Amino acid sequence: SKEKGPSTYHVYIEEMHCHYTKQLTLEKRLNKAIEEKSFQLHYQPQYDFYSQQVVGFEALIRWFDEDLGYVPPDQFITVAEETGLIIPIGRQVLDQACQKGKDWYDNGLNIRVGVNVSPVQFQHPDFIQSVKWTLVKTGLPAERLDIEITENVLLYNKEACMNTLEQLKAIGVHISIDDFGTGFSSLSYLRTFPVDMLKIDQSFVRELKRNHNDQAIVTSIIQLAHNMGMKVIAEGVETSDSLNFLMDQHCDQMQGYLYSRPIPPEQLPLFLTENRVM
Ligand code: C2E
Ligand code: CA
Ligand code: CA
Ligand code: CA
Repeated sequence: SKEKGPSTYHVYIEEMHCHYTKQLTLEKRLNKAIEEKSFQLHYQPQYDFYSQQVVGFEALIRWFDEDLGYVPPDQFITVAEETGLIIPIGRQVLDQACQKGKDWYDNGLNIRVGVNVSPVQFQHPDFIQSVKWTLVKTGLPAERLDIEITENVLLYNKEACMNTLEQLKAIGVHISIDDFGTGFSSLSYLRTFPVDMLKIDQSFVRELKRNHNDQAIVTSIIQLAHNMGMKVIAEGVETSDSLNFLMDQHCDQMQGYLYSRPIPPEQLPLFLTENRVM
């Protein structure tokens, strides 16, 4: 450690500096993307196990920047949350997704569009207003919109959160808890919050065939949800082994690479016809 001392310090400063510059660059480029509305959404199908039909698509943000290239959401959503830029980004995502949902509705497709909502966005005082306004503007029926929130959002301010959820329910929006099982909140919230669906986190789904702990967790989540009158969807379904386990446990819906990767909008029409989505 003697010879490591000063250089470690040096590297630390450089890393910090580098991290800071990277953050600033990201922030600048994000601002540009917001201004130019250049975010794209890709859509990953969600399948009903009983009917084997597509029942919805989750909208996933895609950002290609001229300078930075493709930046995955995991790499910029946090920065967007820290800088507050997630608010305008989230509005654009909601708008784009609801427009797409309205297209499907107009074409007679009986499917939902799922939108990821960041905790920062969910807690923003204008959130409910912007959901209402977007539904009015696009003409999408509320029950066609599925809002995905993570359970950690329920930790911060229970009352405010309950209030927002109840307003969403009153509007008629579908509510899913994303990444279920990975959060820090206690299960008791499920008793009081009006939630429609639990989304089993992909970390429990990946090695379902071999990992007995994952099997126990997944089985319990499905039973819990059903006992409480909720549906369950498994995400990250990559193998038929995982699928078989989930089917045996009567998981309601599936989503994952085994079925399809997220689909860019220009490829959706072909996908919809080929898969006879009605
Ligand atoms: P998430 O909401 O849990 O989304 C699931 C992620 O897993 C997506 O990654 C999806 O492409 C990927 N995935 C789907 N099926 C499989 C599979 O079978 N195997 C594996 N290994 N991965 C699969 P993506 O699109 O990179 O998004 C990452 C995260 O970024 C999302 O996790 C979500 O938390 C966030 N995110 C994405 N789009 C948005 C958005 O529009 N708004 C907000 N606030 N967050 C978003
Ligand atoms: Ca999600
Ligand atoms: Ca998830
Ligand atoms: Ca996630």
